[in-house]
Amino acid sequence: MSTDLRVGIGYDSHRLVEDRKLILGGVQIPFDKGLSGHSDGDILFHALTDALLGAAGLGDIGHYFPPSDPKWKDADSEVFLAHARKLIDDNGYRIVNVDAVIGLERPKVGPHRDVIRKNVARVLGIETDRVGLKAKTAEGMGPVGEGSAAEARVVALIERRS
Ligand code: MG
Repeated sequence: MSTDLRVGIGYDSHRLVEDRKLILGGVQIPFDKGLSGHSDGDILFHALTDALLGAAGLGDIGHYFPPSDPKWKDADSEVFLAHARKLIDDNGYRIVNVDAVIGLERPKVGPHRDVIRKNVARVLGIETDRVGLKAKTAEGMGPVGEGSAAEARVVALIERRS
């Protein structure tokens, strides 16, 4: 039996600002700031989208959803990730697993980890145990450490369906 595995990487970073909701992996997290951006600023969904598209050699999120297009203003980023899932499927792949690291000084992501994992799994149509999620602070260093930005790093593994 031969397998055709492909790995992809995704990264995103947005500013943490007043008067925005903090949304990570489609889940709203109570906090006094949120992520800026043309869409809802969901760095986790954006990095996941790029990791999946990258794994399949299908470009990146900006190719399909240019930020210059007013249509995507304040968009629910689930639209982007669901589109990546559809492209993966249409091109003959299945998602094996995804794993993510969020860099965020505050608030703590841990209490929301399983809700976020479940929501990512739902959008991707995979089991929750195929979604890894960790959160790290930056120990006061750089924009993440200063609380002025958040980052997401994601790897995704896909496999060609036989
Ligand atoms: Mg983004």
